[in-house]
Formats: sequence, structure tokens, C-alpha cells
Amino acid sequence: MANGSAHGAWSPEDSASLYNLKGWGGKYFGVAGDGHLVAQTRRGVEGAIDVKRVVDDVVSRGIKLPVLIRFQDILRHRVEILNESFTKAISQSQYQGKFLGVYPIKVNQLREVVEEIADAGEPYRFGLEAGSKGELMAVLAMNANDSLTIVNGYKDEAMIRLALLGLKLGRRVIVVVEKPQELGMLLRLAREEGVKPLIGLRAKLQTQGTGKWKYSAGHSAKFGLTTPELLAAFEEIRAASALDRVQLLHFHIGSQVTDIQAIKDAVKEAARIYAKLRQKGLPLEFLDCGGGLGVDYDGTHTTSDASTNYTLKEYAASVVQTVQEVCRQEKVPEPDLVTESGRSLTAHHSVVIVNAFGAVAGTCGFPLKETPDEAEGVKAIRKLIRDLDAKTLAPAYHEAAGRLSEAEALFKLGFLSLEDKAKIEALWGEFVEKLGELAPRSKNTPEEVAAAAQSLRDQYLCNFSLFQSLPDSWAIGQVFPIIPIHRLEEQPAKRAALIDITCDSDGKITRFACAKRAGAGLPLHDLVPGEPYYLGIFLVGAYQATMGDIHNLFGRVSEVHVFSDRSVPGGYYFDKIIPGQTVRQVLSDVQYSDVELVGKVRAAVDARVRAGELKPSEGAELMSRYEAIMDEYPYFDPGGPAAKRRSGDVKAAASVAASAKP
Ligand SMILES: *Cc1c(COP(=O)(O)O)cnc(C)c1O
Repeated sequence: MANGSAHGAWSPEDSASLYNLKGWGGKYFGVAGDGHLVAQTRRGVEGAIDVKRVVDDVVSRGIKLPVLIRFQDILRHRVEILNESFTKAISQSQYQGKFLGVYPIKVNQLREVVEEIADAGEPYRFGLEAGSKGELMAVLAMNANDSLTIVNGYKDEAMIRLALLGLKLGRRVIVVVEKPQELGMLLRLAREEGVKPLIGLRAKLQTQGTGKWKYSAGHSAKFGLTTPELLAAFEEIRAASALDRVQLLHFHIGSQVTDIQAIKDAVKEAARIYAKLRQKGLPLEFLDCGGGLGVDYDGTHTTSDASTNYTLKEYAASVVQTVQEVCRQEKVPEPDLVTESGRSLTAHHSVVIVNAFGAVAGTCGFPLKETPDEAEGVKAIRKLIRDLDAKTLAPAYHEAAGRLSEAEALFKLGFLSLEDKAKIEALWGEFVEKLGELAPRSKNTPEEVAAAAQSLRDQYLCNFSLFQSLPDSWAIGQVFPIIPIHRLEEQPAKRAALIDITCDSDGKITRFACAKRAGAGLPLHDLVPGEPYYLGIFLVGAYQATMGDIHNLFGRVSEVHVFSDRSVPGGYYFDKIIPGQTVRQVLSDVQYSDVELVGKVRAAVDARVRAGELKPSEGAELMSRYEAIMDEYPYFDPGGPAAKRRSGDVKAAASVAASAKP
């Protein structure tokens, strides 16, 4: 293995600061002395888990990459710290209400995630929120009677009846009215079902959030009742003699609110509405502040879209104090507080591990020697490279770019040889590389020159699909922290963009949490032939898994659920190993029947055998090869042709899952 000696002074701490690990990893992730990334899942309570060791362990069990690791202890810790932050803020302010949060399962509906959250939240009576019929089906079964079950989202009759069914089971189901028509429907169906509904009202605030989702509130928002609609609802409820059924006022100003001031403003507006409705005689018990609690993906603690300028502690204190202040002014009781944080609970606990298995170099290694007969343009670019210095970047860039387009034109017209065309392209690459080296030393590098300096950056090919595992990176340019999980004792020699294995040119990551400038690339180590190089894509526990799609038919990735346990070697055990989808399963997702496909290929083989083009034994071999792939993992297998068949892997995984929990 390449080692750090060539770079002498480099230390694992240098890597930690290079990748801004403290900024985004909180206290959950760190670098050990051997250069391995570690997960401190219980934050100081128990030892750290060596993430590289976990991956080696996974691979040795026949599970192929990419793999998603869930650190269940981190998930539990998020639930505890959210609840405790509120408990602390409440006691410090001598606030009169309680905190009764809920987890909106849309953020990550995986059963094991919801179960873990419900279990960790039990001491706090932490509840669940559903936004659709499907989610409500899960939530009604999973939730406890003494925590809240909140139903948001647009509802049809069947969904409201389902919520009322929950009430009959003893669950504390609050149906939040999102639009005026839902109220009449709820009152009518409750009468028909003979139950007393628990009603919530969602206010459409004027205050907008900040960041990507700021249009979730304000005039044109999709959900919620405007002030006149709230007053109309009040009258409708009074007319139905159901004022005593209204328990909760809800608002949600969008996800990933980057600025604490926006949160305070929204809470202030909502608290004021709560107070006024309370004074009008609505016995509201709860103020539900929705989601929006952000995650510091880029670790900058700023109001950039991928960050937040506040901590969880500050968030809790702001909510509590703002509500208290308004209630004191308005002389109304302080309500119990609800939040629906999803992102902040789930983002940290999972990481996707991918192997980088090929670098697409920015420059070409083919030797193109200088010859006396080479074209004018070639000679000119050679000279430009020789003479390039930090003071003349812009004029040199313009001349070189001109030479390049001139050469293109000449080639099309037949006046440039293929060899000279190759030289021009290669020299252009060299020129841009030198530009990239000099640009940081030059003052006021023009934008286009800076952009060009980045353009031929190395690209590392990574075994994953952006569309499956990181949909928000593609859809909304969300930044996720990415860092090698080993070799951190060694100074990274390259800066590169990452490309995935889909055939979509959008399957590319060029913005990185640790790079201050867009296009500056991710610091990475040289690949060593025959040795794996693993990258971790962090903070992917919120929204990514279930929004991902099977673009290019790559399918759901394998995952392992890790618990820390000091009493076992390595300090962890696998609670569960869930193999990713097989080729057969992704094909079936888009309506292909494996039987039919095999039948069609068999018919083609049979025809070739009948025609004497294939021997029967060759035909049989082709068929067995085709059929075997049905059970394989759709991702790349850089180890070469699959030696072990997938079915064997699944069996190994199943036996691990059965035996893993001590
Ligand atoms: C999406 C959503 C949430 C979760 O928001 P986060 O920012 O992930 O915490 C909460 N409440 C409602 C109504 C939502 O639509």
C-alpha cells in the first residue's frame, strides 16, 4: 500500500480538518490513528466502531458493494438528544407545557428505522406522523396509545375513516385539517362512525422559511388554512358543537430551514394564532411546529442551503422561549409542544459505502512526441504551455482556446492530420492542468479561466447509482459529505469529481462539502491496483432511500444494521443484513417476467442450435450464464466475473442475520 512517508508530516488529524469532519460529523464520526474513519455511535459512552473494519466484514460475508450501513445507535441518540434538548429548554424556562414530538415516517419509512425510533422514543412518549394512507397503515400498527399519532397530508374519505379506526383502537390520532373541505368530511365521518374526532388545524403562515424549501409557507403554499379559512373553520366547528374536539394547531414552513431567525418568526406567528384562537374558545392543547430542523451537511454552520446557523439546542430553546413570550403577553396557557422533525433525526445514522475502482484521468498518457513537421497550432500551444505564468493566465487561456477551435475547424475541412488533432487535444489537457496549478496563485482569475481550470479534473468512477442512493444530489443539488474511510493517514494526491456507473451524464458529483469553491474537486488518494478504495457518502439517512429510483435498473442497495457492543470483537455486531435487489427483482419492478425473458432467450438459442450455428452444449452454457445473472446484484463487480453465485451470498447473509444478535 502506498503510505504517508513520502508526505512525511501528514497526519490523520490533517485529513479530519481537510474533510471538515468536525463541521458535519458532529461528534459521530472521527479519524483513528491508523487512518480509518470511525463512528462514535454512543458518543463517548462506548468505544468507536472502525468503519473500514465493518466494510471488510461485510465483504467477507459475500455482500457486495455498494452497501448502506445503518448505525442504529446514532439513530437512537438522535431521538434522545431531540427529546432531551426540549426537556432541558422547558425546564430552564420553567415552561408550563410538555414536549410530545412525532417522527414523520415519510423521511425514512423503513420498518427497522421506524421501530428503532419508536423504541428509543418510548420513554419520551415520542409518536409518529403519517402523510398518506399507506403511511397511516404502518403508523397505526406501530405507534403506542400514549404517544401522538398525527395525520397530515391531503385526505380522502378512506384515509379519514382509517384515522377514526385508529381512535377506536385507543390511539391518540389527531387529524390535521389541511384544506377547508376536509373539515366537513371529518365531522360527518366521525358522526357516522360514532367517534369523537381529535382535530388539528394547519395554519398557512405568512412567514417563509429559508433555504431550498422556503416556498412551503407563505401565500402560495400548497397546504394549510389561511386566516379567513381558519375563522371559517372555527364557525363551522362551533356550529357542529365540536369546539371541544380541536386540540392542535399545526404549521410547517418547509424542510432544512437554514436560518434560526426564520424559525423564530414562524413560531411567533403561529403562537400568536394559537393564542387568539384559544381566546376565542378553542381548547387547543398542542402547538405543532412541524419539521424544518436542519442538518449541517457541509459543516459550515452558515445559512447556505446545505447548512444551518443554529444547533439543536438553540432550536429547542428558541421554540420554547418564543411560544412562552407570546403566551405571557396574550395571557393564555402554554401549550404542549410538538415537532415533526424527520431530517434531523435520521440523516446522521446512515452512510453509503462505494468502491472507487477506476480513475478517468484528465489528461492522456499516450506519448505524442514533438516532431518538426507538426502543425502551427500544435507548436503554438506548446509555446503557451512553456511560457504560462500566473500573471498572464487570461490572455494565454484565450489564445489557447482559439487555437483549439481553429484546429477543430481545420480538421473538419481536411487540413489537419489525425496525429496533430491528437496532439492538440492532449496539449490542451496539459495546458488546462497547468492553468489549474497556477490559478490559485493568481489574483482575480476571471470566472471563465477558473471554470476551465477545473474542467479536466480527474474523475473517479464509483460503484453506485446517484439516482438510487443520492437522489437529492441529482434533483436539487444537495451536498452530502463524502470522505474515504481509510488511508486518512496519507495525504490525498488528487482532486477529482465522482462519477457513478449509470449511463446518465447527470450521474456525477462535482460539489463537495469540504471544498470551498464549486468545482474544486474532492481530495482523493491515488488508486492502488488490486487494492480497494472505499468512499463513504454520509448523512444519507433522510429522504434518500425511498426517493431513489431504479434508473438504469440498478435497484435498492444492500444494507447492514450495526449495533455497538463493547463485549464483542470490534465493538459491534450486525443486527440485520438485507441483501440488495437482484437483477430479477429490478426487472420485475418494470414489468419483466423472468420466466418470459428466459423463455425468449431460450427460443433464440434453440433456433441457433437447430440451424447448426451453436452446439447444444454451447447453447446450454449460454442459457445457464444468462439465467445466473438473474440472481446477481446489478452493480459492478470489480472483482471480475462473479465467482460466487448470488444465491450463496443470500444464504450466507440470512444465516448471519439469524445468528448475529447475541
Ligand atoms: C416533510 C414534513 C416534515 C418533516 O420535515 P423535516 O424537515 O424533514 O424535519 C414534517 N412535517 C410535515 C407536515 C412535512 O411535510
